[in-house]
Amino acid sequence: MATADAERKAAEKRIPELTAEIHHHDFRYYVLDDPEISDAAYDRLFRELEGLEAKFPELRQSDSPTLRVGGKALDQFKKVSHRVPMLSLANALTEEEFLEFDERLHRVLDLPESHAFEYFVELKFDGLSLNLTYEKGSLVSAATRGDGETGEDVTRNVHTIRAVPLRLRAGKREIFPELIEIRGEVILPLEDFERLNREQAERGQKLFANPRNAAAGSLRQLDPSITAQRPLTAFCYGVGYAEGLKAETISEYEELLESWGLRVGKWRKICRGTGKVLEFYREIEKARDSLPFEIDGIVVKLNRLSDVDRAGYVSRSPRGMIAFKYPPRQETTTIEDIIVQVGRTGALTPVAIVAPVRLGGATVRRATLHNQDEIDRKDVRIGDRVLVQRAGDVIPEVVKVITDARSGSERKFELPSKCPVCGTRVERKAGEAVTRCPSAECPAQVKERIRHFVMVDALNIEGLGEKIVEQLVDKSLVKTYADIFRLTKEDFLNLEGFADRSAAKLSDAIARARSPELYRVIFGLGIRHIGEATAKIIARHFGSMEALFDATEEQFQSVHEIGTEMARSLHQYFQGKQQRHDLTELLKFLDIKNPKRAASDGGKLAGRTLVLTGTLPTLSRSEATRMIEEEGGRVSGSVSKKTDFVVAGEEAGSKLDKARELGVTILDEAGLRKLVS
Ligand SMILES: [Zn+2]
Repeated sequence: MATADAERKAAEKRIPELTAEIHHHDFRYYVLDDPEISDAAYDRLFRELEGLEAKFPELRQSDSPTLRVGGKALDQFKKVSHRVPMLSLANALTEEEFLEFDERLHRVLDLPESHAFEYFVELKFDGLSLNLTYEKGSLVSAATRGDGETGEDVTRNVHTIRAVPLRLRAGKREIFPELIEIRGEVILPLEDFERLNREQAERGQKLFANPRNAAAGSLRQLDPSITAQRPLTAFCYGVGYAEGLKAETISEYEELLESWGLRVGKWRKICRGTGKVLEFYREIEKARDSLPFEIDGIVVKLNRLSDVDRAGYVSRSPRGMIAFKYPPRQETTTIEDIIVQVGRTGALTPVAIVAPVRLGGATVRRATLHNQDEIDRKDVRIGDRVLVQRAGDVIPEVVKVITDARSGSERKFELPSKCPVCGTRVERKAGEAVTRCPSAECPAQVKERIRHFVMVDALNIEGLGEKIVEQLVDKSLVKTYADIFRLTKEDFLNLEGFADRSAAKLSDAIARARSPELYRVIFGLGIRHIGEATAKIIARHFGSMEALFDATEEQFQSVHEIGTEMARSLHQYFQGKQQRHDLTELLKFLDIKNPKRAASDGGKLAGRTLVLTGTLPTLSRSEATRMIEEEGGRVSGSVSKKTDFVVAGEEAGSKLDKARELGVTILDEAGLRKLVS
């Protein structure tokens, strides 16, 4: 007992140390963009903290950085009231309208025309507004704007956004207010937005129209572990309620926010007079295409808070502030044709071929129409004049039809009833917008699946590019993953553009790919919701393909980082008849490098397989699973000769009978606790 006491004592000291240290490194990395330690060193700190918290959950700090990984899904969001309402800003859409805003302020504040106001100007991020509440410096609540008075409680999701500190730093004014509401904007940087949409497309999921929709969709996930996978970031720009905090200007507030470790925009300025504001507006407009995120304008505020107060409000908008917007990146063009693409999961996507048009620095020739519902809703026809809009570098979308320009010769469009690639009758499930080709052998889907499977982050087969995959599938040489490993040098020689040497080279590359790490295979399968990071976690946790075949939905869910939706998707995949067949075939060719199990070294149940059945008196199924896995044991769904123990509770069923039949040791909860204690 003496050693256990000492261990606990050490943890009491170490947990707060690690917590503070990781908070510090998050700040360096995500706010200052200037890390002090390597990713690997950071991971080590994080793991050490996770390990200690798992052992001594009661010592976990309420603002522990381990909150960042997500957690369990919610059924719905709670409503929360903002202490001070979140305002909305009036818009100026032209320079003229901005000058009118300035004139109006002169009238309202009764100042001569010659008076030049001091304006605070900054970027208007195109994202989702947030209200962050910090109590004694710890983040206790995060809510969406909602109607301005009441928003949705998205605290668990905001925990996963690393640019939002879980704990404020003692800044310029040593003590921050006991209770403070901070206003910010959640955004998804353009590069991440494009990657997310590429991944969505690969998984046959809905594409996001623009970064703002993607940010909103990611933040408003009931399953925070999905939010955790989305690279959201945030900028803070204002203060709502603040107990005992006095500031005279908006710029002073922003300096305070910055000194507390909150991320504020770099692009901000104090401008005296409208001329300087217009200069800033034009300067930013020029730089707009090179910014790493979307903005839709600049925000102009009277810098003196007393002036803002005196100018008053029109409904919910302060007269002393305005959103000075840029024209949207939209253009009109003509739809020449509509084609249909088939994705990896069989989703049929209608795409408009448009007359080439310049948009945001690129020439646009295609615009997505998403699905049949969208076509019907917008009444898009071939030959229509349409407004197209582009966000980032993704395929632009058709915003609306200019119906006045119709000549009557436009043609309506319907998705075909048969897959344009393989001719199979397409299906559309009730309640889903997506029409799919259900054939697992559909060449379009096979191509996409194989392409994903061999990519760099998956099996990494060098030289097996898109064009070659296309030919292999068209010639029916490859229908399944296993077929890749059946290919011979001669097969390549029969393809376009191969000579003896290049064929041998590709053959070698395929041979080299036969002993991949487990996570590469898991990621390569392109399972819905499962990205590379999650694949690594799954590999570490389950340790082998066989364990994945056996895993129940509950076991998937018992992994901290795996949420409800992911668990369901994994379980469905590994229980799917076709998938199991294809995988079994594939495994005949592969010698997978299984990772060392996370907790297997030295655990009291290392190498042991246990089966749970019935209801245990105090432990839930997932708690028991966790307890076993933390000691390196494996929980299986069925009893076999390989089972070491069956843990049986109330109303244990056939598994208990089977255990008796096979002579497997049967334990109750107390017996299990004894094993791991
Ligand atoms: Zn098809």
